[in-house]
Amino acid sequence: MSAISVPPPKCLQKPLVVPHRHMFGPGPSNVPPRILELSLGCMLSVLMPFSIMSDIKSGIQYMFQTQNKVTLAVSGTGHTAMECAIFNTVEPGDSVLAAVNGIWGERAADMAERIGARVNTIVAPPGGCLTIEDIEKALSKHRPVLLFLAHGESSTGVLHPLDGIGKLCHKYNCLFLVDCVASIGGAPVYMDQQGIDILYTGSQKVLNAPPGTAPISFSERACQKIFSRRTKPVSFFLDLSCLANYWGCDGKPSRGYHHTGPVTAFYSLRESLAVLVEEGLENSWDRHQKVAEYFHAGLESMALKLFVKEKHLRLPTVTTIVAPHGYDWKEITSYIMKTHNLEISGGLGPSVGLVLRVGLMGCNSSRANADMVLAALRDALKHCHRSKV
Ligand code: PMP
Repeated sequence: MSAISVPPPKCLQKPLVVPHRHMFGPGPSNVPPRILELSLGCMLSVLMPFSIMSDIKSGIQYMFQTQNKVTLAVSGTGHTAMECAIFNTVEPGDSVLAAVNGIWGERAADMAERIGARVNTIVAPPGGCLTIEDIEKALSKHRPVLLFLAHGESSTGVLHPLDGIGKLCHKYNCLFLVDCVASIGGAPVYMDQQGIDILYTGSQKVLNAPPGTAPISFSERACQKIFSRRTKPVSFFLDLSCLANYWGCDGKPSRGYHHTGPVTAFYSLRESLAVLVEEGLENSWDRHQKVAEYFHAGLESMALKLFVKEKHLRLPTVTTIVAPHGYDWKEITSYIMKTHNLEISGGLGPSVGLVLRVGLMGCNSSRANADMVLAALRDALKHCHRSKV
């Protein structure tokens, strides 16, 4: 063996130029300089100073409104947290119930199936939600160990009500798992008061941090089930007993090496939580709600229709607009990208072809940005091809 047979790629000999764009799709959102700069910070050891991890933990407890000891950030995106929640709580043969109000319930069902769970779903009407009665009926029929629900369904734009579901789950000895990737910080969630057993999010939406870290928290009940499993969780990387030790949540005096965390991404996450703390949760919820209402009124004044009919079910962070009749939605999104340097997107999963999706999250949630999207849409409807049929 003497000569290399794969030459150095030419593409990597040219500098990468990343354009600036208004990131008004369903995520990731723009990262403000204050948070981005932190990701350039100097590398610290795989066991970061405990104070940084402890600050992150306190920030997550505030954002989630929980006192849970086992609160940490998974190294990975929202999907990693989703698998962490499901792989730790579910054993082969367990019954799992997934509430489906868009793509995320379908994905949770898929993940649970992969580890040998018996999975059932309850499906909400498109752009709608499930009633407490629907949920109770399914809980009593399937007796699941875990109920999954997406609070902010970014594929359909639904903000699913949470009140009462936690209590119901506990009546049926079931853990309540909630995905708040697209909603936390932009709409109220009270983890402890609402009886949520596992809650997770991602860093790249309302928090405006780079993608790659995912806050998650486990209630005492969830920990009891997890730490008395008969079998080891299928994933070593996501095994909560290892993660809880890595994050100093297990009360043991020493923290060991489990994996190399994305250290600089954690600095950014800490800064993004500091920004949320500075604004205050209630102010952030209020700002997102007011901007969403302003944006929705602007869309309706252009005769565009909102996919979610009931106002109180509209997610304030991600808006789904019924794809305008006679237009090709792909032409609209690419026109807006080319002409306005602004990213919005089409549907996802069950909403593909049906909607356009606009995300105004974290620092992007402002009237000025809503106006920018309204002007871009107005322009696109004027210039994109419209069929007469
Ligand atoms: N859940 C919801 C509600 C989401 O919007 C997303 C991201 N679009 C995810 C989960 C998955 O997150 P990620 O892309 O960070 O893996």
